Parts: sequence; C-alpha cells; structure tokens
Amino acid sequence: MSGVAPELEKLLVLQEREQKKMRLERELTAWPSELKALESKRVEVRASAEKKRLEAQNAEVERKKLELEAEAHRAKAARYKIQQFETRKNEEFAALGTEIQREEKEVQEIEDRELELMALGEKAKKEAAVEAEAVKVKEADLTAKEEDLKKKKTELETRLADLLKEIESLAGGVDSGLLAKYRRILANKKDTAVVPVVHGTNCGGCHMKLTQGSALAAKGGKVDATCENCGRLIFWPSS
Ligand SMILES: [Zn+2]
Repeated sequence: MSGVAPELEKLLVLQEREQKKMRLERELTAWPSELKALESKRVEVRASAEKKRLEAQNAEVERKKLELEAEAHRAKAARYKIQQFETRKNEEFAALGTEIQREEKEVQEIEDRELELMALGEKAKKEAAVEAEAVKVKEADLTAKEEDLKKKKTELETRLADLLKEIESLAGGVDSGLLAKYRRILANKKDTAVVPVVHGTNCGGCHMKLTQGSALAAKGGKVDATCENCGRLIFWPSS
C-alpha cells in the first residue's frame, strides 16, 4: 500500500497557497522601494535638464556683464578723446593716446570673449531645448511605469485577499491537531512544512537520509510521518 494520506493532500494544497501568499507579501514589501527608485529617477532626469537650462542662463548673464564692462571701457576711451581734443600739451596728448589705445584694446578683448560666450550660450540653449524635450518623453515613460506599478500593487492586494480567504477555507477543512503541527513547522522553517521523500530515502526538506521507520511510515501513507532531523512532515510522492 502507498499514497499520500488525504489529510496531507489537503495540507499540500494549503501549503502551496501559503507559499504563494508569502511570495505576494514579499512582492508587496518590495513595492515601496520600486516606486522610490522611479521617483529618484524622475528627480535625476529633471536635475539634468535644469543643469542645461542654467548653463544657458549663466552664459547669458556672463555675456551681459561683459557688455557692461565693454561699455565702461568705451566710455573711458571717449572721455580721453575729449580730453585729448582739449589739451594743448604734446606730452599729455601722447599719454592720452596711449590710454585710448589701451581702452580700445580692452574693448576688443571683451568683445571677443562676448562672442565666445554667445556661441557657448547658443549651444547650451539648444542643448537645453533638446534636453527639455527628452525630459517630457522620459517623464511620460516614468509616469506610465508608476501607473503600472500602482496597478500591480492593487492586483497583488486583490490576489492576496483572495488567497487569504482560500487559505482560511482550506485550513478549516484540515484536522485541527495536524493543522497546528503544520503551522508550527511552517513558522519555524519559513519555507515548507510538508515535503516529499526524495530517491526513496531522503527528506525533501533538509535532504538528510531518513530513518527506515520514517521512510516506511511515509511510504505507508501515515499522516504523521516525520523527518527526524528537521521535523517536517514527509510523504511518499505518487510518481
Ligand atoms: Zn528533514
């Protein structure tokens, strides 16, 4: 004679549902960190676009500063020119001429830098525009992913609620003494409480060799056949 005791069959179904329940609970536990990862991705994407925008803005601010500087030098040169026009001393005329040249050279240099900054600013502006477009696409993608994740959470919760009901009803159909034993083992082992005998000799839970008595009890379909090493309930698989 052989075969799994009907009570153990019930426990196996229950165990399968409870394992599923544990998997769902683990997934639900991971859920907040998955959402958080998406949120920080969003922050990252926005920061990168903001950086480009600021680069463009800073180039413009710098350029305006230079414009004022150039203006100041131009004004100086103009003042010197007036003074030069008014002086009658040759020495002073020559000295002012040198000053004017220096101011004009200064203006030239500043204007060159202004042109460079303008080019940089234009480039940054274009890049910022491209980046802003890319952000829109990335944000839409993130929003979709967040929606999916929220949907997934609802699904997981619904499935879990259904499973809990099923588990309760399945547990109600098992002998209470056996159920208590099963629950104790499961709470202790975390993974399985009822395991098959493997290769006809070993425990499917802890993989240790079973005593002949335990193996025979399992083979005989005894409901209380137990691995003496790990304490799990064992059964003889039908094929
Ligand atoms: Zn064992």
